[in-house]
Amino acid sequence: MDKMPHHIDTTAVHAGMSGLRDTHAHVPPIDLSTTYSLPDVDAGGLSYEELATGHDLGAGRSPVYQRLWQPGVARFEEALAELEYTDGAVAFASGMAALSACLIACVTGGTPHVVAVRPLYGGSDHVLASGLLGTTVTWTDADGIADAVRPDTGLVIVETPANPTLELVDLDQVVRAAGSVPVLVDNTFATPVLQRPALHGATLVLHSATKYIGGHGDAMGGVVATTREWVERLRQVRALTGGLLHPMGAYLLHRGLRTLPLRVRAQQQTAMALAERLAEHPALARVFYPGLSGQDPSGLLGRQLDGPGSIIAMELAGGYDAAARFTESCRLITHAVSLGGVDSLVQHPASLTHRPVAGDAKPGAGVVRLSIGLEHVDDLWADIFQALAVIGGSDAARLEAVERSLTP
Ligand SMILES: *Cc1c(COP(=O)(O)O)cnc(C)c1O
Repeated sequence: MDKMPHHIDTTAVHAGMSGLRDTHAHVPPIDLSTTYSLPDVDAGGLSYEELATGHDLGAGRSPVYQRLWQPGVARFEEALAELEYTDGAVAFASGMAALSACLIACVTGGTPHVVAVRPLYGGSDHVLASGLLGTTVTWTDADGIADAVRPDTGLVIVETPANPTLELVDLDQVVRAAGSVPVLVDNTFATPVLQRPALHGATLVLHSATKYIGGHGDAMGGVVATTREWVERLRQVRALTGGLLHPMGAYLLHRGLRTLPLRVRAQQQTAMALAERLAEHPALARVFYPGLSGQDPSGLLGRQLDGPGSIIAMELAGGYDAAARFTESCRLITHAVSLGGVDSLVQHPASLTHRPVAGDAKPGAGVVRLSIGLEHVDDLWADIFQALAVIGGSDAARLEAVERSLTP
């Protein structure tokens, strides 16, 4: 592979394509084979042995079986690893399957204790709190990590920016506090376009690829970019537990990477404009967005995070009722969970994505989360403004609000 350093825009377009040169295909073929022919019993057995223990597919070897190796998945993994500056990556059926594999690897490795910094995505919080996979958890904040780490701690887990209220965590500080314990960073919100946790010493960089990486709301997947040693461990877990990314999903996620830098920057530009306007709105008690003044106390923007991204959370002054009415009143913006796609979504975290989170750690009842897409900023502003006006009550106020929102 050509290892000359390129800008991320170039890498995103070309990464993971090097293996195609000999085939003359311009885009990756979608290989749906569940099984692969074997040259002879000995060679087949050897391939099986290598792949089941997490090694790469050797030159000229048979992939044996889709649960052990899939060429399109491997191409997507190679591309993601290049963007995240890691040795490799392992892809899964979903973000939760990716996290589960990391936790199973800890349990089977004899280090079942996890130190987790809240807030995390609701599903991550839930799987840790439930102990379903055999882990135990100590919840802490970034300052409490060093004290929470024990001899049997297998992972320190952080998310930054965090879902749903965009708290930022200093990764250099986390990695220092974790000492020899590997740090897992959920990089779903930032994407490698805005943040590369491995360059700050994170061992595992996890994505729900369902979100920005796919970017079009039509493919579920998860991926962990990591070291050679962890790639082998996670492939073994994947081969045994079967949380596979489908070849079609791998194709779509790999294709998503090609436009990721452009999408992330365009969505971010719109979100920045909206967050500034929203910060002035009287119906809102608070707007959560790392780009607003006072919301990056440690100065991580520019140092760790290249930009504030395109998720905005906001707390409505009218609490739960206002938040519920707001989400139901958006017209252009779809009321739905998930995020990071080309179209804007709104949801109420306390009722949905963060429903299973313990009471004291649950987002406020008045908080809604917006994922800003690629629509024109004026159209999004008009929709948000009319929905905020609905909470205020009268139709006259709403019409006036829409008119005002349309005049810059
Ligand atoms: C959605 C999400 C997940 C879970 O990913 P799935 O693909 O839905 O399984 C994990 N972390 C974050 C930050 C997410 O937004």
